[in-house]
Order: sequence, then structure tokens, then C-alpha cells
Amino acid sequence: MAEQYDAIVIGAGVSGLYSLYKLRELGLTARVFEAGTDIGGTWYWNRYPGARFDSESYSYQFSFSQELLDEWEWSEHFSGQPEIERYLHHVADKFDLKTGIELNARIASAVYDETEKLWELETTNGLRARARFVLCATGLLSAHQFPDYEGVDSFAGLSLHSARWPKQPIDFRGKKVGIIGSGPTAVQIIQSIAPEVGELTVFQRTANWATPLRNRPIDAAEQAELKEKASDIFDLCKRTWAGFIHEPDTRAAMDVPKEERFARYQELYDRGGFALWLGNFSDSFTSREAADEVAEFLAGKIRERVKDPAVAEKLIPKHTFGTKRCPGEKNYYEIFNQDNVDIVDLGETPITKVTPDGIKTGDDLHDLDIIIYATGFHSITGELLRMDIRGEGGRSLQEHWSDGPKTNLGVQFSGFPNLFAIMGPHNPALFCNITRCVESNVEWIVACIRYLRENGYETITTTVKAEEAWTQRCYDSAQGLLINEMQDSWFFGSTNPENVRGRFLLFAGGVPQYREIFADVVAKGYEGFELK
Ligand code: NAP
Repeated sequence: MAEQYDAIVIGAGVSGLYSLYKLRELGLTARVFEAGTDIGGTWYWNRYPGARFDSESYSYQFSFSQELLDEWEWSEHFSGQPEIERYLHHVADKFDLKTGIELNARIASAVYDETEKLWELETTNGLRARARFVLCATGLLSAHQFPDYEGVDSFAGLSLHSARWPKQPIDFRGKKVGIIGSGPTAVQIIQSIAPEVGELTVFQRTANWATPLRNRPIDAAEQAELKEKASDIFDLCKRTWAGFIHEPDTRAAMDVPKEERFARYQELYDRGGFALWLGNFSDSFTSREAADEVAEFLAGKIRERVKDPAVAEKLIPKHTFGTKRCPGEKNYYEIFNQDNVDIVDLGETPITKVTPDGIKTGDDLHDLDIIIYATGFHSITGELLRMDIRGEGGRSLQEHWSDGPKTNLGVQFSGFPNLFAIMGPHNPALFCNITRCVESNVEWIVACIRYLRENGYETITTTVKAEEAWTQRCYDSAQGLLINEMQDSWFFGSTNPENVRGRFLLFAGGVPQYREIFADVVAKGYEGFELK
């Protein structure tokens, strides 16, 4: 017998917790189904050594409760995973959310019953539930991926994926460790385990433009100031293109004298976080000349910090600065000066297979005790596509998205009434400080549900026309930006198994514009949506 609710939320991470809070506030019965054994989403699964914010803690936290803001104190400017997980538990306890959450409950299917106008969901372990509304709070980067090298399952030592890290600590002391990947996750892991390992081999396919994070404790005076300025910080995040505290210099880079430009790069390099990426000159995402100069500045830093020039050259990326997210680093480059750390450039010597003893590149066998896969995700679409979601006429989401995802505003798909994605494809997520976008999307979706109920409607579905227009608008939003020339990235789902290449998966018009569009749709009576 399926339990019935007004709304079902899939996932108990940042967006799932806030969804439950808002749905209950509206007086709805709601249940959250969470695959993990506990709440936290990203911050539950990614418990690898060194996992921490790349947004300033106080700009990432929830803004909806003054009491919560007053009572919670972040210990660091970029807090680590254990503290973030504690925070999310604190939020869940404070607002009594845990009573509404079913753990160990991975949704396998969600099927729309057109007669009843209800969704029926089933978990992999056979729980069933029905609801009028479904909110997919499944995240952008949740479906982790192993590479498809021959022999991945044959390794006799310990294999770990960063996004399925065990709860018990791993003893790296004296061990021969190999790590595949050099994205933000790998950078955090490498920095954390390098002091312990016996030997570390980094298997790098693509170097990244890592910039200093400059994490540090928040002292008492800063704590007081941050509390006083909390609402100013959120206001600032509302104004900036990516929802962060970093505001660009409004001038075009080349309009500024060279000496002044380099002084600014240095100031941003010293400031930390995403300052150099997001707080640069106004044309840093559009002008190759401007981006190349930042790259030149950063390459100089890498050459200064890495003693062996050949290793430094391997660590200097070949792609345009700013076209991928910049990993935040502390002493990443210095680690390659350690005698027990080696880097293998997979461009020169690709991995041929994984064997019971380690990793083979060309004719060399790298003998290992532990392999860490920091190889990322089936990004943006993965978590939605691995469920069997079927809308009107039994049509599956896989079928609907066979030529790449199609959405209206990133929140709805045509033929799937009352199903909402909070952080699905076609929202600004990559360029957004996630909680800032989560709060506004959840508020929009829940206000929409309120509107339906207050006006006697049972369903809302995007029209096909509006879906096509929004999908095209997302592609257009990347035109003219340097990121459009860097399609080997998760923004384009370049490593996603559905093999749809060249489809930009996000909206690059900026967070303020995205919010305005949402408000405009409502002002025009949910233009582009069919209400019945
Ligand atoms: P990622 O950026 O997708 O990086 C995956 C890495 O694995 C890349 O270096 C990739 O190389 C490599 N890789 C993938 N498949 C491979 C293969 N078959 N052989 C060799 N190498 C392979 O994933 P991520 O580092 O987990 O980060 C994902 C996103 O999560 C980030 O962009 C960031 O937004 C977020 N994140 C945030 C934080 C934080 O501080 N809050 C921390 C970690 C991650 P290629 O580049 O060549 O594909």
C-alpha cells in the first residue's frame, strides 16, 4: 500500500532540507526520500580528506532564518566537510525536519498516473508512495563515475571514489597511493594526504588553473562583524553574476595600465576564494587577451612554486583561464616538490589498464596499495536519468532528453506535470553559489504550488514552445563567452554516458537575470506554463 502525500522530495541535501521546510510552512504533507544512510547530500557523500567549501562559509549558509544566522558560528572562512555536515544536522534538528525524511530510500522510479493526476514513486528496496507534486532535490553533481578502464574491478588493493568515501578514517601512512583526476576534488585530497602517504602518484589528464583558497579561522572580531553584515552579504550575493561575494572591476582589462592590472591580479590572488576567477576585470569571461594574461600571471606563480621546471610545465594548464571552475588550493604546487610525489601526464602516457597490482601507463606498471578515483560525475543530468521517470503517455525522461536535456527555466520538463527539478540542467548552478540559487528556486517552486492550490488548479506543466525557447536561450547564453570554446568540461557533460556532445547544460546569463526571468514569468501569470 502506497502512502500518500501532497508532495515528495527526492534527496535530503541542502535543497531537499529547504524544500521540506517550505512545503511544511505551506501546510502540505511532505516526505523526503534519501538514498544515503543520513542527511546532507553532497556533504554526506563527499567526506574525503580535505573536502571543504569553495564559497565563503557565510555566503553559502541558509539565509532564511535570522535565528539560525544568529546562533550558528562558522569556525573558518571556508569550513570543512565535518563542520558543514554538523551545520546541516543542526538545521534539520532545529526545524524538526528529520521526522519527514526516509533514509536508505533511493528512488528507482517515478511514474505519472494521468487519471489520478498523481505521481507514484518506488524505492529500490520496495517502498512506495504517491503525491501530487514531486521536487527533485537531487543535485547537479551526485551520480559519481568511475572511468571505464579495463580492469578497474580487478585491483587487489583498496579502491576509493571521492564521492563514496567511507565513514571510517583511511590510514594512508606508508602506503603507495595513486590518484586519478586533477579537478577541485583531487586537489583537496592531494593536499590532505600528501603529508602522510609513503608514495603518491597523481595521474593527470588535464591540469587545472588552481588558485589560492586562503582559508583561515574566523576570529572573534570577524565573527561579530560577519553577524552584523549578514544581510549585506546576502544582498551582495543577489547582485553578483554568480551569487558570490566577489564583484568584478567594471573596467575592461586592457583599458587599465599593465602595472595596475598585474597589481590587481596579485591582490585577488592574495584575497583567495574565487576572487581571481569571479572578481577580475569585467571582460575576463569574454576577452581572450584578458583571460590569457591572467593565465600568464598564474603560470608564473606555478613556475616559482614548483622546483622542477619539467613538472611545473605539466602542471600549467593548456586551456583558457576561467573556462572551468578553479580548484582552491593551499600548498598544492609545493607538494610536487616532495621526493615521494610523482605526476604522470596521461596526455603523454595514457592509462592502458588497471591490474590487480596497480595502474599501467604504456609499458610502466605503477605498483599501488590504494587507488583514489577523483574522476567526477555523470554531471547535471546523471541523478535524474538514473531514475526511471515516466510522464504523460508513459514517456520516459531518457526518451525526452535523447538529444540533450530540454527544460523550461531548468525547473520543468514538458509532459511531466507537477514534477520540478531544483538544481537540474539549465540553471546557473556552475556560476552560482549553490545555496543562494537553491533558496530562490525552492521559493519559486513552493510559491507556484501555493498559487495552484489557491486558484483551484491541480497541475502545472511547461508548454513545449516555452521549453524549446528556454533550452535555446541556455545555448545562446554561452555564446560570446570563452567557456563556449571549452566543451571538454562538465558544463557540456563531456564525460556523460548519454553521449550528447556540444549541448551547454547550464544557463550563463547570470543569477540576477535568472531571478528576474522567474519573477517576470509569475508576473505574466505563469507565462509558458499550462495550468489545469
Ligand atoms: P571534475 O571537476 O569533473 O574533475 C574530474 C577529474 O577527473 C578531472 O581531472 C578529469 O580529467 C579526471 N578524469 C575523469 N575521467 C578520467 C579518466 N577516465 N581518466 C583520467 N582522468 C579522468 O570533478 P571534481 O573534481 O569532483 O569536481 C566537480 C565539481 O564539484 C567542481 O567543478 C566543483 O564545482 C565541485 N567541487 C567543489 C568543491 C568545493 O570546494 N566545495 C570541492 C570539490 C568539487 P579531465 O579534466 O581531463 O576530464
